[in-house]
Amino acid sequence: MKPTSKYTRIRQLLSEWKQPSYRYKQMTEAIFKHKVGEYERMSMLPRSLREELIRALGPQVCSVRPVAELASSQVCKVLFAVAGDERVEAVRLHYERGWKSYCISTQCGCGFGCKFCATGTIGLKRNLTADEITDQLLYFHLNGHSLDSVSFMGMGEALANPNLFEALHILTDPDLFGLGHRRLTISTIGLLPGIEKLTREYPQINLTFSLHSPFDDQRSELMPINNRFPIRDVLDALDRHIRQTGRKVYIAYILLRGVNDSMEHAGAVAEWLRGRGDWEHLYHVTLIPYNSTDVTPDSYEASDASRIEGFVRVLKSRGIRFTIRTQFGSDINAACGQLYRTE
Ligand code: SF4
Repeated sequence: MKPTSKYTRIRQLLSEWKQPSYRYKQMTEAIFKHKVGEYERMSMLPRSLREELIRALGPQVCSVRPVAELASSQVCKVLFAVAGDERVEAVRLHYERGWKSYCISTQCGCGFGCKFCATGTIGLKRNLTADEITDQLLYFHLNGHSLDSVSFMGMGEALANPNLFEALHILTDPDLFGLGHRRLTISTIGLLPGIEKLTREYPQINLTFSLHSPFDDQRSELMPINNRFPIRDVLDALDRHIRQTGRKVYIAYILLRGVNDSMEHAGAVAEWLRGRGDWEHLYHVTLIPYNSTDVTPDSYEASDASRIEGFVRVLKSRGIRFTIRTQFGSDINAACGQLYRTE
């Protein structure tokens, strides 16, 4: 049976206990406005109700428990314990202008086995529940951090977890996190059914497709999912997404030296993205410097400046819009592709 989120559970309990209807609002205001993380401290509730809540739900509102924290100047990585003695990680990025952005996990491990990815070496342990996904953010919120933007690029493939959509509901519910849809970004290796559902249900949420090679045979080698959902089919679904939503779609591309960073690769990326229709300017390529870890194969290295320059020159000459992502946190293994159980 699908687990129910704590917010649904609280509603059910309040109604079973014949509490007045304003109690739920009082509780969500305590959590989200006043940052109260323990039922005991919800002083606006009668003591007997607080005791009932603790009996039913435990003392803490947050279901994930921080067990380690690593911080550098702009990045903070928190390792959380979740049920079953598993670990997942979330990263907070702090930009100079005060903007705080988060990268959270949706699965414990991942079963898709992309060759360059540290999380992929663990295999899938399990999907996180909607509470476990959103509580990674609740933890930061309760500790006084503003939540400005969130990407689902931590451990796991977000669209492979059926609980993702309930988590999106919780994050965008005005009584709960109340985040604007455009502040959320889903990153996917190209799971078509999930992309189509996102287009239907959350058209304003940002979408990033991890391409990493424009050649199907090489992409299947790097990312076995390509055998199921090849590039052409995914790009067709992304065209539909853009046409229906009028929103940009980001194409993520990790640059691996001597593997996928040649000018021929850049030309083939451009080839895919040109001539698609009058919406094609809404495709935006994000080039990502590769981060190696202790568990990813030694054969992968980051591209050097001259290869990146050549790649970029080709994209520019073909009129492809792109940015090169600034890397934060590679010194503490908190950058993309590095999230791995380190404890
Ligand atoms: Fe899984 Fe994403 Fe890593 Fe691929 S890149 S193995 S989908 S976490």
